Amino acid sequence: MRAARFHEHGGPEVLRVEDVPVPEPGPHEVRISVRAAGFNHLDLWIRRGLPVDTTMPHIGGSDIAGLVSAVGEQVEGWEIGARVVVNPILFCGSCEFCLQGEESLCYRFRILGEHTDGGFAEEVVVPAHALHRLPDDFPFEQAAALPVSYQTAWRALLHRARLRAGEDVLILGASGGTAIAALQIARLAGARVFAVTSGEEKAEKLRALGAYRVYDRTTVDFARELRRDTDRRGVDVVVENVGEATWESSLRCLSPGGRLVTYGATSGRQGLTDLRLLFWRQLQLIGSTMASRSEFAEMLKVALRGELVPVIDRTFPLEEVRAAHEYVEAGRQFGKVLLIP
Ligand SMILES: [Zn+2]
Repeated sequence: MRAARFHEHGGPEVLRVEDVPVPEPGPHEVRISVRAAGFNHLDLWIRRGLPVDTTMPHIGGSDIAGLVSAVGEQVEGWEIGARVVVNPILFCGSCEFCLQGEESLCYRFRILGEHTDGGFAEEVVVPAHALHRLPDDFPFEQAAALPVSYQTAWRALLHRARLRAGEDVLILGASGGTAIAALQIARLAGARVFAVTSGEEKAEKLRALGAYRVYDRTTVDFARELRRDTDRRGVDVVVENVGEATWESSLRCLSPGGRLVTYGATSGRQGLTDLRLLFWRQLQLIGSTMASRSEFAEMLKVALRGELVPVIDRTFPLEEVRAAHEYVEAGRQFGKVLLIP
């Protein structure tokens, strides 16, 4: 089969599309014939080299939709040809957090396609418990845009920050797939959305998705503008994924008692926190990553009903994996980028 791999860490030039043996499913595993695989920022981090154990040579790709093409021993309920989307979280199943149904807090938490080989290939082997069935008419591209971004935004907003109807929320970096997912989920929850992005074209697209105010960070001080637009009150919830470049401003945007939830640090991992602001305004700083399996199932149910429709920026054929990495690295996308084997 064809697979996009890299043999050492580095820039997009380390990526190669190669012929590799078709993987065989072991017990409790199935093989998927990949029809679409979504890109995430995580794919860039893994290619550049993170201090995590990963396979080498490595096949990336955590967001996978396709057809079951082989079923391993001791797998029940799945047949060849079933249309599926994959939840990429891998967990031990026996630690105290797994036993409470909080798999994203698992001590041995890993992600398919990051710690293991993923879906940037014609075929991929996954645990059978990761599969979710897709209706016959649900497009593979839409399904592959969901898993990482939509479960991350779902947990961060609804379960960690506990966003409620009528609240105001500010979303940073609002052109990436997960930030757009956050915008859509916040709207669905009945919140009013403020967003920060770069460039008028992206700002216009965010307004079309229902953002109430959009700030272009290349031309305005968004914290100052937001405080003016909310009569100096600030917002109830800030959704952070930019990190170092926006952290201080994000804190200044919170209302008294406000919650900041973060699931990323794209621009750098150090954030300066004015501790007086933290206690005086009684703020909460909340971390979040991925989601529990039950939260994933909740999100997917809503998406399959057509109430969350992912924004897909563009697709690349598998053979153009290098161009896809360069495109995402340059931050040119608005929404999800997919590879099609
Ligand atoms: Zn566990």
